[in-house]
Amino acid sequence: MKLSKLAKTLKPSATLAITAKAKELKAQGIDVIGFGAGEPDFDTPDNIKEYAKESIDLGFTKYTAAGGTNELKEAIIKRTKLDYNLEYKKNEILVGSGAKHVLYNLFQVLVDNDDEVLIPSPYWVSYPEQVKIAGGKPVILEGLQESGFKISKKQIETAITNRTKILVLNYPANPTGITYNRQELEGFAEVALKNNLVIITDEIYDKILYKDEKHTSFPQLGSDVKEKTILVNGVSKTYSMTGWRIGYAAGNSEVISAMNNLSGQSTSNPTSISQKAAIEAFRGPQDAVQNMLKEFKERRDYITSALNEINGIDCVLPEGAFYVFPNISSYFGKEHKGKKITNSIAISDFLLDVAKVAVVPGVEFGSDNHIRVSYATSMSDIKEGMKRIKESLAIL
Ligand SMILES: *Cc1c(COP(=O)(O)O)cnc(C)c1O
Repeated sequence: MKLSKLAKTLKPSATLAITAKAKELKAQGIDVIGFGAGEPDFDTPDNIKEYAKESIDLGFTKYTAAGGTNELKEAIIKRTKLDYNLEYKKNEILVGSGAKHVLYNLFQVLVDNDDEVLIPSPYWVSYPEQVKIAGGKPVILEGLQESGFKISKKQIETAITNRTKILVLNYPANPTGITYNRQELEGFAEVALKNNLVIITDEIYDKILYKDEKHTSFPQLGSDVKEKTILVNGVSKTYSMTGWRIGYAAGNSEVISAMNNLSGQSTSNPTSISQKAAIEAFRGPQDAVQNMLKEFKERRDYITSALNEINGIDCVLPEGAFYVFPNISSYFGKEHKGKKITNSIAISDFLLDVAKVAVVPGVEFGSDNHIRVSYATSMSDIKEGMKRIKESLAIL
């Protein structure tokens, strides 16, 4: 059958390919340790599950407004006010089927043919793809390891052309775990405002932060900044609710209204029960979040030092999220079974075949010298996995 031009440009996710291969090995009875996960390994907190079950029994099982219920929007507004002292109205909130869906809708309603979208690298895999699907042109700002994977204000300035429309920010970041402080963000805001850019800020890891310094939400930088910013967040990472599929955008009411129209013609509302669950997540006790954070921090400390102890591996200490992004390029050029290891895909294949450990090649995130190692898995798996990685690399 003849497919559309768009279909031919769509890229399968290499993350999913590695996961599939790891699963296949597991099915064969091989004990594979998975460091590929892009989701917390904790269960959704009980109060949230109970609330969702009650909602089913009460018959909350029908269509809702396409952009989310008023009750959920109010819960989001309250939480955002409580956490960041930011004020939004209901017509400035859109709830979608996960932050990924919300970002997709955002690019669809903001990007015209050949509009340029600035994306710092290493980036979350879907930003460039979603921009391309919307007909735009992703322009990558390279965050080098020497700079702690951070981009500078200067890099943004240099990349701006008369076609530049959007700056995408994601902090704490997937895949590096790095974040920005208020002063750095102020620099970005200054350039963005001066050049009339829209800022899309994906702060889905705002609660998974190990520094003492509080997370600065981008729209907190001033009312002028807030007007040009669309804030994206959701329940997936904070409350360990990836499967429930609830994310939201907060910002300019015209943008929100356009996204609402798009949802109305495509997905309709996000699942009614999941919206109820998200209400409980935002309104209920927040101690489960603190417990997860504590556990993640212990793992982060362990895994980063274990990786840095391995000969030829070098990694930046992540300040948030649940990934480390070690540089493994010193192994490029080495041979295994007559085959040269030349890039992040080859080293990931090697680690899966020899160490029986699944990681994600960095090339997926725009950096071929690295691999992404998720520590959303048990401490005992982390310890065993690190041992295996060390032993397998020693044969190269
Ligand atoms: C997980 C993730 C998302 C998507 O989250 P969902 O709400 O589950 O769709 C968006 N952005 C980043 C950076 C992520 O890591």
